Amino acid sequence: MSGSIARDATLNNATEFFSPDYVTARARFRAAAETAGAVLHALALDAAGPGGEALTIDIARLGDPRARKVLLHTSGLHGVEAFAGSAIQLALLQQPPAPAADCALILVHVLNPYGMAWLRRANENNVDLNRNFLGDGETRSGAPDLYRRIDRFLNPPSPPASDFFYLQALWQALRHGFHPLKQAVAQGQYEFPCGVFFGGSTLQQGPRRYLDWLRQHLSGARYVFALDVHTGLGPWGEETLLPEPASGATPIARLAAALNRKLIEVTRGDTAAYVIRGGMGGMLPRVLPGATVDFVLQELGTYSPLAVFRALRDENRWHHYGSGGLEHPAKQRLREALCPAAREWRTQIVAKGIGLVHAAADWTFRKRER
Ligand SMILES: [Zn+2]
Repeated sequence: MSGSIARDATLNNATEFFSPDYVTARARFRAAAETAGAVLHALALDAAGPGGEALTIDIARLGDPRARKVLLHTSGLHGVEAFAGSAIQLALLQQPPAPAADCALILVHVLNPYGMAWLRRANENNVDLNRNFLGDGETRSGAPDLYRRIDRFLNPPSPPASDFFYLQALWQALRHGFHPLKQAVAQGQYEFPCGVFFGGSTLQQGPRRYLDWLRQHLSGARYVFALDVHTGLGPWGEETLLPEPASGATPIARLAAALNRKLIEVTRGDTAAYVIRGGMGGMLPRVLPGATVDFVLQELGTYSPLAVFRALRDENRWHHYGSGGLEHPAKQRLREALCPAAREWRTQIVAKGIGLVHAAADWTFRKRER
């Protein structure tokens, strides 16, 4: 059976790869990785799930243990977004691209297991992990001025309640402009520990353990192509590919041609995306100084930015000012906002997810070394 025919068969049942909760997803990932012949690692975290269950970042490695060329695929940096990323990884493990000699495929399952288990985007300390990867010399303080001014609207200190959210949001957008508003809110802040998009006062345990693992296990790599799956930005069911500009990285036009896909350069003001501080993509070249690193963040679109933000805001209120338990509709609404139940959405994003990995594998495993 050729690769594409097998992939079509996988896609007929794409919705089956979606798990109802973190514990199920983790068990399925580990079983599928073992079946595929992968070597498994588990990085344990101190935080626990809602039933007291242990939380781990699970890593499956296929191919050469001392590979010089590595395709690194990560899911769930934003917790609840892992429902989609985990499904993509499970589908991929049905027939993963075979690493050539001297190559490896590494799948990292759920970088923020607390967030997946508790249906949160942030981690156990309310930290947005894709704003948390700052180097030692970078300051972890401050917030955009506009964020500070509208903190009470973004993060009301009360449990979720009807408060004319859309009217308030419209008013803020009229006053400040939609794009500046989005940029100020989402770029990351280090001043409001109970607020959304909080980047944290220290490098968090999960990211720290993950970076240590990379240093230890990828020290022989000379080229690393990192793909990081997210949801919630861009048109419904579509992918938006956001490369991280870095010195030494493959020029974006060249990478786009290799992948046969459009890559969007994020600069202030001209795209649906926004510039962030403390993203994971900027950190990888620093922990892998012996390697050239290309990093592409794959966003899979769900609902409108306002609908997604509203779900984030409500869940954040419930976490800080309610019981935080899974029973509240705000929890289920956040899951729906970042991993819609619609069959056609799920089928589409699994196709986009595994399609990108196969394209990246073709490029990475055939790449000539400098
Ligand atoms: Zn995300």
